[in-house]
Amino acid sequence: ARMRGPDYLDGLNTEQRQAVEATDGPVLVLAGAGTGKTRVLTTRLAHILATGRAKPWELLAVTFTNKAAREMRERITHIIGPQAEGLRWLGTFHAIAAQILRRHAELVGLKSNYTILDTDDQERLIKQLLEAENIDAKRWTPKTLAGLIDHWKNRGWTPEKLPPAEGAHFANNKGQRLYSLYQERLRVLNACDFGDLLLHNLTIFLGHPDVLADYHERFKYVLVDEYQDTNVAQYLWLRLLAQKRQNVCCVGDDDQSIYGWRGAEVDNILRFERDFPGATVIRLERNYRSTSHILAAASGLIAANKGRLGKTLWTDQNGGEKVIVRGVWDGEAESRLIADEIERAHRGSTERDPRKYRDMAILVRASFQMRAFEERFVLLSIPYTVVGGPRFFERAEIRDAHAYLRLIQSQDDDLAFERIVNQPKRGIGDTTVQKLLQIARLNGVTAFSAASQLVLTDELPARTRTALANFLRDILRWRGLVETLPLPRLLEQVLEEAGYTDMLRLDKTPTAQTRLENLKELVQSVANFENLQAYLEHVSLVMDLDRGPQADAVQIMTLHSAKGLEFPLVFLPGWEEGVFPSQRSIDEKGEKGLEEERRLAYVGITRAREEARISFVANRQVYGRWTSQLPSRFVDELPLANVEASSETGYYGGGPGMQQHGSRWDETPSFGAGYSSPGWKRAQERNYKGGHPGRQQVIEGEGRLVAVSEPSASGKFQRGDRVFHQKFGYGQVKSIEGNKLTVAFDKAGEKKVIDSFVEKG
Ligand code: ATP
Ligand code: MG
Repeated sequence: ARMRGPDYLDGLNTEQRQAVEATDGPVLVLAGAGTGKTRVLTTRLAHILATGRAKPWELLAVTFTNKAAREMRERITHIIGPQAEGLRWLGTFHAIAAQILRRHAELVGLKSNYTILDTDDQERLIKQLLEAENIDAKRWTPKTLAGLIDHWKNRGWTPEKLPPAEGAHFANNKGQRLYSLYQERLRVLNACDFGDLLLHNLTIFLGHPDVLADYHERFKYVLVDEYQDTNVAQYLWLRLLAQKRQNVCCVGDDDQSIYGWRGAEVDNILRFERDFPGATVIRLERNYRSTSHILAAASGLIAANKGRLGKTLWTDQNGGEKVIVRGVWDGEAESRLIADEIERAHRGSTERDPRKYRDMAILVRASFQMRAFEERFVLLSIPYTVVGGPRFFERAEIRDAHAYLRLIQSQDDDLAFERIVNQPKRGIGDTTVQKLLQIARLNGVTAFSAASQLVLTDELPARTRTALANFLRDILRWRGLVETLPLPRLLEQVLEEAGYTDMLRLDKTPTAQTRLENLKELVQSVANFENLQAYLEHVSLVMDLDRGPQADAVQIMTLHSAKGLEFPLVFLPGWEEGVFPSQRSIDEKGEKGLEEERRLAYVGITRAREEARISFVANRQVYGRWTSQLPSRFVDELPLANVEASSETGYYGGGPGMQQHGSRWDETPSFGAGYSSPGWKRAQERNYKGGHPGRQQVIEGEGRLVAVSEPSASGKFQRGDRVFHQKFGYGQVKSIEGNKLTVAFDKAGEKKVIDSFVEKG
């Protein structure tokens, strides 16, 4: 035997080693990003196994995603070999709870072959219940109730335990009753939803002490990663399983709690010490992931949050590059800039070795931001993957919108027809559609023309017939608009008139919000095409790309799905007010939402090992209208000493060149015909390239980065000044706040603008 201890302990620092070796009794590792929490957890698992304290199947290890579980398994295999295959209880909360439920399904009235409903099934079921109860499903939507039920389940409330005030929210106090009915229905169907997995586990453990005792016997050690994001039900579940032996180790970081909106409670961290008295709390302070500028920038940013548990972080990877912040003209310029930089990094230079594509990541706040990058990558043949979700063009709402456009372009497109004839629901059921397709097949005609025949007969019930006839008429009417309306306007109108936009608007869930944003992004992106034909060709090309798994590809994902990961080079685009922080968090009362967004920004920056590059745009097209964007407040909050405003490529600030744009905009207040014109493109190109390097400097305002703009900007204006803005025209300055002016414009009314966009009028 070797004296100095097993290899896997080598290289751990004192605190990490302590966290690995303190196998017995409760341990809480509370530490900032990149301090090795996940590494500690993995090593601890390996250590428990290697020292024979437990068999692989006696360990319960909870990770946040399946991907994280896979990686952990690989790392452990690396340390201890094939023995790791026996880790049956390594997975997400959901995956493990589902396994447990299978073994005891009968205790909650299910069979072991129960099915797990997806959200669609769930809502359909709820809709039936609402109908049976004579509740107006327009006013009280199934989505809303599904959301409430999920929320209740996350809090560990069965229908019996639901606080009466909670049920009052829905359909005049019917919430609780509906919740019970829903649970009964699920039982009859031998089904459960996602929230049930944990909830049923709780019911089983609480109602059957013998079963719980079995698990106490089985799970000798319990380990949990990303503990800050557990919700109440998960916490209760953990506590039940760990309370007997108390061999539980949770690792987390309160600054990275980003699932408050899904019921996660940072308070669980505080509870831990209460529920597991005598817990060893270990703090890791050395960050091994990032260079000092990246770490300092992230720490400076998160310092603006109140009510933190507080922690120190340091690294000995001094130097390195500062966090780069730059403003660019618009979303297209941003994607062009980032794609160019990715190409350059991939080629390498005299100063730096070539980077692999997979070592570069783009982390966005909202999925709509992905579109511009994806298109750019397709154009330049840069391999990329979208992690944790479909690519932009593969999203259901985008496919639906495309199906409308395809059917408008060509009534022969049966696939498009089938996809949207009843989407949104217009009372044309599956039976009708099947009948239609059958008639089409038998007669060798298209579905559209079969439908046109069918509505002239009495084959269909009157109501269905009317609905179908309206649909056909709409398609032809829109067809008639193709030549006259600009493409964005057409698409917008189609989505409105088809009821598609309303369907999403009525739906109050966050997913619906995301889908609406994606559609807005789509509407604005079609402006770049001459006509419908050209656009549809483009789409089929983009969709047609080889989509096999790519070993070396740029990683695009949301900040939420980047949790726990790390990349040498990280791009963080869209740091603008209303995008990041999100408009929702800004509109919300209080600071809670904003603080969660700030934690998300902290997560974003701390994913970077060597380079982090933040960007924001001056203009964004939102639903066909250009809006001037303000740089995110988070940009302001970055400590100046660790940040560098890029001067080579970024373009941000006013100047004579912009004047031209201004007039262009004035001619085309919303989607104008001029938009896709080559002349406009050239003007934009010229302006972008011919930026004013001299203007891109950092202004210091109380030691913070205020914005990237010309040096003389602040102090250039006073209240009462007459000014001219490229987009809004003439106006008078009402108030000044840093580099932001509130101006009463003669025509456009009161607006907040950036001073560098304004000239003395
Ligand atoms: P996050 O909060 O982002 O989840 P974390 O605290 O889980 O971060 P890890 O992912 O475990 O941190 O570790 C960050 C990086 O530092 C990894 O690349 C890991 O291999 C490395 N690392 C951790 N501890 C050490 C160590 N003692 N020596 C060298 N490298 C280490
Ligand atoms: Mg981690």
